[in-house]
Amino acid sequence: MTPSTTLSGDLFDRARRVIPSGVNSPVRAFGSVGGTPPFLTSAKGALLTDADGNEYVDLVGSWGPMILGHAHDGVVEAVREAAGRGLSFGAPQAGEVSLVEEVVRRIGPVQQLRLVNSGTEATMSALRVARAATSRDVVVKFAGCYHGHVDALLAEAGSGVATFAMPGSAGVTASTARDTVVLPYGDREAVTALFAERGDEIAAVITEAAPANMGVVPPREQDGTGFNRFLAETAHAAGALLISDEVLTGFRAGKEGYYGIDGDGWAPDLMTFGKVIGGGLPVGAFGGREDLMALLAPSGPVYQAGTLSGNPLATAAGLATFAGLDDAAYRVLDEASVALRGLVADALTTAGVPHVIQTAGTLFSVFFRDAPVETYEDAKAQDTEAFTRFFHAMLDGGVYLPPSAFEAWFVSTAHTPAVLDRIAEVLPVAARAAAQSAAKPAAKD
Ligand SMILES: *Cc1c(COP(=O)(O)O)cnc(C)c1O
Repeated sequence: MTPSTTLSGDLFDRARRVIPSGVNSPVRAFGSVGGTPPFLTSAKGALLTDADGNEYVDLVGSWGPMILGHAHDGVVEAVREAAGRGLSFGAPQAGEVSLVEEVVRRIGPVQQLRLVNSGTEATMSALRVARAATSRDVVVKFAGCYHGHVDALLAEAGSGVATFAMPGSAGVTASTARDTVVLPYGDREAVTALFAERGDEIAAVITEAAPANMGVVPPREQDGTGFNRFLAETAHAAGALLISDEVLTGFRAGKEGYYGIDGDGWAPDLMTFGKVIGGGLPVGAFGGREDLMALLAPSGPVYQAGTLSGNPLATAAGLATFAGLDDAAYRVLDEASVALRGLVADALTTAGVPHVIQTAGTLFSVFFRDAPVETYEDAKAQDTEAFTRFFHAMLDGGVYLPPSAFEAWFVSTAHTPAVLDRIAEVLPVAARAAAQSAAKPAAKD
């Protein structure tokens, strides 16, 4: 190993000796784009600072939670105040009630909710409730959707599993894999055929409300019916449940999550949340119909628990974040999202780089491909080399993008026009770098 010339490089060397691949979550390792990940020391608003003193405009936002920008004054103050009153009680406290009430107020189908510590825990627990409620084992998921690293849900998953082109995960037992059926996203015929054949074995269909872990792939309407509604109706006709995973889209795509955008005349039975709900601290949640949630211990037979679940720091951060997420905040997010999409499209078009930008509310992603992306197969057909060149040119220019072609880009309410100007300065250079990709005919200049 050649000695590194940066403090981030030194830290990465140290990290790799004692932490697998040097990271505590795979995409952070920059494995698919190459290079050394900056080790971050601080963040404020839309900006990050690394160990070498470099500053970046952040378009990751901790993968979603930092929707009000980093170290938001109100959130930091709320956490400080809570910390002074005790870090964890392992006993009921008022913040849990207020945070859950906020979610119940915003999300129609959620009558009851339980707090956990991650999105993974949320989907794992929702699945357990669904299996208990139906006394069935099989779960249906869609290729390219990511639901955390739950054994039953890793097959053909998005996010890091997509970034590293893995079919699933080693260490998942054959019997677990047998109980998971993976279908192409949006394929109604495949869903109908599966239910015709095995409907009485299926406990639940789980889907991202709008897939955003293979890039953003919004559900499509067909004959006036949205895909989520179709799934709810198909599942219900067979006595199965629909679990809508809003860990990423919840309170990010819009004020009432993606359900607020396409929830009309149908409802999922269970929903999962995370990311924004904890404002940067570890929080997830699962909830839905009261009769289903009543199955949870201690009143019901489904065991689920957590030593740190609903701890006062996490609920304080979540509540303070929600306090900032009013209609005005969503207007700011939407304006930032629209403006940034326009800047990216202009730069890539000028440089002759094939691309398509897809949205789900204020959430969006950029595919280096010239045709719309409707499935995981489509997403995988993009020019990842163009993305890698684009990514590194942006990073060199001080813009921190998700280090994967399969992730959404995240703006915050701190992404002001002045911040977007800094991105706009770098975009033409990065677009020209992307145009040099050998994976397609080079653009003429
Ligand atoms: C991030 C994510 C998860 C997993 O959440 P963690 O907190 O990382 O465990 C689950 N589902 C979706 C849709 C996600 O985006």
